[in-house]
Amino acid sequence: MATNDYESVLKMLEEITTNARQIQEQLLGEILSKNAETEYLQGFLHGQTDKQLFKKNVPIVTYDHIKPYIDRIANGKASSDILLVEPLIGFSLSSGTSGGQPKLIPITAESANVTAALGNLHLSLMIKHFGDLSQVGKRMELLFAKPDVETPSGLKASAVTTRAFKESSFQAILPKLYTSPYETIFCPDTKQSTYCQLLFGLIQRDEVVVIGSIFAATVLRGIKFIENNWRELCSNIKTGKISDWITDSGCRKAASLILKPNPKLADLLEDTCSCKSWEGIVRKLWPKTKYIGTVCTGAMLQFSAELEFYCGGLPLVSGFYACSEGAIAINIEPLSKPSDVSYTILPNTVYYEFLPIKEDCVTDSQNQVQLNTSRHKDTETVDLVNVKPGQCYEILVTSPTGLYRYRVGDIIKVTGFHNNTPQFQFVGRQNVALGVDMERTSEADILKAVAEAKALLDPFGLILTEYTSYGDTSSTPGHYVIFWEIKPKEGNNNNDNGKELDPKVMEECCSKMEDSLHFTYRMYRKENIIAALEIRVVKQGAFELLLDYFVSNGASLSQYKTPICIKSKEALNILDSRVIAKFFSPRTPIQDN
Ligand code: AMP
Repeated sequence: MATNDYESVLKMLEEITTNARQIQEQLLGEILSKNAETEYLQGFLHGQTDKQLFKKNVPIVTYDHIKPYIDRIANGKASSDILLVEPLIGFSLSSGTSGGQPKLIPITAESANVTAALGNLHLSLMIKHFGDLSQVGKRMELLFAKPDVETPSGLKASAVTTRAFKESSFQAILPKLYTSPYETIFCPDTKQSTYCQLLFGLIQRDEVVVIGSIFAATVLRGIKFIENNWRELCSNIKTGKISDWITDSGCRKAASLILKPNPKLADLLEDTCSCKSWEGIVRKLWPKTKYIGTVCTGAMLQFSAELEFYCGGLPLVSGFYACSEGAIAINIEPLSKPSDVSYTILPNTVYYEFLPIKEDCVTDSQNQVQLNTSRHKDTETVDLVNVKPGQCYEILVTSPTGLYRYRVGDIIKVTGFHNNTPQFQFVGRQNVALGVDMERTSEADILKAVAEAKALLDPFGLILTEYTSYGDTSSTPGHYVIFWEIKPKEGNNNNDNGKELDPKVMEECCSKMEDSLHFTYRMYRKENIIAALEIRVVKQGAFELLLDYFVSNGASLSQYKTPICIKSKEALNILDSRVIAKFFSPRTPIQDN
């Protein structure tokens, strides 16, 4: 991008954030006048396009409400104009869901351009802060394409990122600007893909100026992957031969073009990797790196401290906030610390409304915004320009892609304004109990999984009396830990040494839970993005002590319910110090066909 191009993009950002009110009004007007006759809106507006009527008559909905319309379109039972007039070019596959299958979000040619424009805006901000790095080096980004799903209508459903990787403009710049060859990004085996992308990143270490991936957990997994495999990687570099277990023909072809024997580089990397502490290893392996480009906010904030350790002071840049439903916001201060990042909303992509959350968000010791409650104050929504700093809201979008007053499921806290456009910190997902990567698991998901698994104890005369869960990210990949307190149905045998428990049965309980968790969890397990679920059996009485702890911290005894998920360190210690046995799921969960 030429210097004056990036300046004009940033000028445009100033203009849209200044004229936010007019842009929003105009956008809603356009969406309504185009789509008022669709079957969906017709049912509420009877062909009218009045904005007040829109807010009065059109209900606030979740994905479940529009799913029947989307399913009709995807199954070829109805034309897409039941939802929107603009023709569809496909669907986005969204993972932003707790439980259930990924969502299908309609995409039009125009909405695909909006996503590309977000990338351009981010790039312009990076040029402003770091100069045009594309002139001096390459990006070592761990990128993974997912296979498209062909719906019966013939329309394809693909992840937003995969769609971007398939763009001819991306493919044209890939060899010049990225270290990962196209074949490695599209390799269906995540392990082979990771290995090769890291290998090629190491070979081109002197050219690398940016390291990254979409989300921080993936960057961390990449570093840990090198920690576990550097000897093999170095041996490949030394001999110029790729390991035999890399069987993917695309990866092997890419290696045959790039990999040449380079003992000098291999020795240098071996020296670097064999050092005692891996603090700052990223800087040592890729000495010209200027920043780590990866989302470190929201669910990813938990990985920022470890990432900082490995990256030795390199800025961690969370560039933007986007979802399959739309390009929502951009970080105009890319050098701010992950815990301080505020995103600036883009007023020209979708029409926003904000549902105020009843109680305020609080900030914990790590400056991470926590939500006290997710109940809404009322169903009166607030327009973009009228939100109040300090208040938490749930985001609703009305988009040119057929979403009307649609709950994205994210909670944000308004921190201020840039020109006339609000800025916010990402707080979290609505109704999420556990998440160790980008997956979201709700309390209902955990409840269901435990209910299925505990039935396996029955024939052995055992009862599950209490349980809770915890997302353990102390090692990579993270995993789910479920604490169980078990007692025999009869007798006084309190089973406190855990010997009575048959490991086979307990392992089956772990697997049963995994089998009953949602699609995204099972897919992540298969791809080793999440490690095996663990049951930690605790001594009898441990949950009684947990109750004492919560009550002494102000919980009302009469209203006390064991939390389905615990986050506090103290609560965790109470259970962890009373663990009598640990069991892990021995297999990957059953996948859907
Ligand atoms: P998907 O629909 O699968 O693309 O997932 C989008 C979801 O990822 C959003 O709704 C957010 O919950 C989360 N997300 C995206 N960008 C960010 C960000 N910058 N910080 C925190 N969470 C994010």
